[in-house]
Amino acid sequence: MQNEVNRRKFITNITKGVGSAVILSSPLVSFASGFLRKPVTVGEIIDLFKKEVPHVMGADTVDTLKAGDRDIVVTGIVTTMFATIEVIRKAIALEANFIIAHEPTFYNHHDETKWLENDEVYRYKADLLKQYNIAVWRNHDYIHSTKPDGVTDGLAEQLEWKKYQEANQVIYNLPAGLTLKALINHLKTKLHVQTVRYIGNLDQLCKKILFLPGAPGGTTQIKTTSKMKPDVLVCGEISEWETAEYVRDARAKGQQLSLVVVGHIASEEPGSAFMAQWLKNKFPEIKTSHVPAGNSLSFL
Ligand SMILES: [Zn+2]
Repeated sequence: MQNEVNRRKFITNITKGVGSAVILSSPLVSFASGFLRKPVTVGEIIDLFKKEVPHVMGADTVDTLKAGDRDIVVTGIVTTMFATIEVIRKAIALEANFIIAHEPTFYNHHDETKWLENDEVYRYKADLLKQYNIAVWRNHDYIHSTKPDGVTDGLAEQLEWKKYQEANQVIYNLPAGLTLKALINHLKTKLHVQTVRYIGNLDQLCKKILFLPGAPGGTTQIKTTSKMKPDVLVCGEISEWETAEYVRDARAKGQQLSLVVVGHIASEEPGSAFMAQWLKNKFPEIKTSHVPAGNSLSFL
């Protein structure tokens, strides 16, 4: 309420100061008229996205608010992989008070914070969000459950591989003759990564690619590889002691299986681009920005 009074005062003061004729032809008109629009709340945006998924997630879903509340009136939205402190600062600079992140905010899958209560990093981040009244919603289970999966759809788009993608969304049948080296170069360029880790022969020709973004776990990566028999398994994140060892043994047995690890963030950031586009389509009046979290790790 107090804010509304201040806004009105602000607009009245401008009108008094420079005259209404100037106001009408200035960019401030859109600023001022913005207040006449029906306000959209965090809760309304979340509820509309949830409708993209035919079923409601169980109580154990991680797609909950990590900061702020449903009633916050949205001034702008930022989509990203991680609501890092840097991303929060960029949101503040953009005057956005709603961050939609794909991954946890507080360093564990369920964003439990009890164990972090006396931690200075946690406190700083939680206080920053509170100070600027920013809502953070994790959109993980829902975006992975849209048809097609929003993350994989964004990834295929960014790789320019939609035309090679099978209906299952994880297999890509590339034109014959692409070497593993050429494939790696393509992944590095399109996903903006400096280096990848890999197992394989760089001259080996690759046709059937299994791309599992994110970190679905070694068992899923191995089972899917075993079932789909790709030439190359491309992963976001792996545990070295699981998937990499499986691929090593498969090669020793005589299979032509290669592995490329591009990094969790690089493999799923395209999902935040997908989300930003969805928001722009549904809420064109709200400024939405995709702010990539970037890679946490540097390479030497
Ligand atoms: Zn994901």
